[in-house]
Amino acid sequence: MKVKAISLISGGLDSVVSTKLIMDQGIEVIGLHFISIFQNKRESLRGLMAKKSAEELGIRLITKEKGMDYLHLIVNPSHGYGKNMNPCIDCRIYMLKKAKEIMDEEGASFLITGEVLGQRPMSQRREAINLIEKKSGLKGLILRPLSAKLFPLTIPEEKGLIDRSRLLDIAGRSRHVQFELVQRYNIKEFSLPGGGCLLTDPIFSKKLKDLMKYHREFTMTDIELLTIGRHFRINEKTKIIVGRDKKENERLNSLKEGYTFITPINFPGPSAVIMGEVDTSIIELAANIIGHYSKSKEEKIILKINNNVYLEYKLKKDIASLLEEYKI
Ligand code: SF4
Repeated sequence: MKVKAISLISGGLDSVVSTKLIMDQGIEVIGLHFISIFQNKRESLRGLMAKKSAEELGIRLITKEKGMDYLHLIVNPSHGYGKNMNPCIDCRIYMLKKAKEIMDEEGASFLITGEVLGQRPMSQRREAINLIEKKSGLKGLILRPLSAKLFPLTIPEEKGLIDRSRLLDIAGRSRHVQFELVQRYNIKEFSLPGGGCLLTDPIFSKKLKDLMKYHREFTMTDIELLTIGRHFRINEKTKIIVGRDKKENERLNSLKEGYTFITPINFPGPSAVIMGEVDTSIIELAANIIGHYSKSKEEKIILKINNNVYLEYKLKKDIASLLEEYKI
């Protein structure tokens, strides 16, 4: 029976090359791809790329979603955050633990990752890699084909399942060896390095911190809303989100369930979602924010609130400085 391994496939260059290096040693590889609400657009495209890469490599791909348990991890990561709200060490441990479950289910002997020693500041330092491996319960079972010769022998190498001499010793950020390999293997389906996840983005991180501070029990939709529109923290219990263009207004409309949703009726302008407690003064403020960001010269505006209530407001003239104060 063929030896099986699970390979973490992001769709990026490193994961694809690592997988191919191990397939070349006669191992049956199954791909594993994680999807997450914290993927930015570029990363989401990698989800499609992971499928295409797996197809090109001719391997089966399993897709797993980082769910509510991942949200809990974000709130209180045991190993802290990186430069922004990225808990890379805990995130890697989380993914590897899930990968171990899949390994057991599939009867695989080891795990393959595209990690390169020293390529990323937080999670790919030697101490971090060792810590992550230990905490995930995969000691000796993670094979990193691109940097394997810079690490101690793994169990599959010790058992003779893998020929160490055919593995590499890459360290650092340069990817010229990986590019040479995709050319040699004639691999076309992979995405270029870079992009990162939303948790490494300073603007997104600021909004996430605000959400965590004021809304302890938040949901996946609350997170999704962080990627849309302008956000205004009005008080401890209320936030207003205003769309920046037609597409964002439509997205706010599609996510409005459970929030107060306001949309203009007698003029073209942005829609708004109010999260948290709402009273008449909050609605009036939201109306003025909508008026501020519309091109309308109307003094009186009519708004529809949650499908069936229509209200008319006389707009205040200048709220720009107030908005600066509320802006997250
Ligand atoms: S960059 Fe994002 S996805 Fe990658 S390890 Fe860090 S937190 Fe996880």
